[in-house]
Amino acid sequence: MSDNNISNRELELICEYYSNLERQGPGSSDVTQKALSFIDPFSSDALIADIGCGTGGQTLVLAENTQGKIAAIDLFPLFINILNSNSEKRGFVDRIKGEVASMDALTFKDGSLDLIWSEGAIYNMGFENGLNQWHRFIKKGGYIAVTEISWFTNERPKEIDDFWNNNYPEIDTISNKISQMQNAGYVPVASFILPEECWTDNYYKPQVPVQKAFLDKYKGDTFAKELIEGQLQEAKLYEKYKDFYGYVFYIGKKI
Ligand code: SAH
Repeated sequence: MSDNNISNRELELICEYYSNLERQGPGSSDVTQKALSFIDPFSSDALIADIGCGTGGQTLVLAENTQGKIAAIDLFPLFINILNSNSEKRGFVDRIKGEVASMDALTFKDGSLDLIWSEGAIYNMGFENGLNQWHRFIKKGGYIAVTEISWFTNERPKEIDDFWNNNYPEIDTISNKISQMQNAGYVPVASFILPEECWTDNYYKPQVPVQKAFLDKYKGDTFAKELIEGQLQEAKLYEKYKDFYGYVFYIGKKI
């Protein structure tokens, strides 16, 4: 989800819409576990930050598959409330602490984190900017793992090139993203493309019933209509151009 240049009411509607979904971006439990498999296991005193955690789909997977404590951070209190309540239900209250904060104003101590995790969220401050700003919070030998929209090819059809360059001009090829990671002070450890079902089955399909209910509730509301139309257009473009772009997991190690 994107939140540029919009009013508070519009932001509230966007949050309400996304709060009805288990995930606010493309991903899956399998993909989170695959990314974790490239990272050396932690001890129980490790500290992980899950930044832009949303309602915490991947946070719970992280808790199940690691030891240590997780600081789960998002800008929106509604998402953090849902995350905290899910984490309580699953018995993770001692391990997961949901906190409302902005990803560009984090207050971790320098060198205090074993791992920074961020699925579908670093674009909010820009991939390079995020990698650079978060670097100091990670301890030597610690890791960063983020997903980011990326081009699969050097050339692509104009329609999709224009769409993403208007929406997120920092979209780039995988090799350029890896090089940005290296330039930000991480050894690129692994990168892999998220499978298609992370978008279709896990992201766009669950939105269909939510869109229906949302449009019923906000009948006649122009912004609500535009929000859903935007989602439908994005899903349509994905179906048409999925050979040319997608989400990529980038895993780096600070040495
Ligand atoms: N990681 C989740 C959510 C991805 S959507 C998932 O994969 O399902 C992106 C998330 O970034 C949203 O939850 C949004 O509220 C959050 N976000 C946007 N701007 C932010 C900021 N400045 N600081 C912290 N979180 C932010």
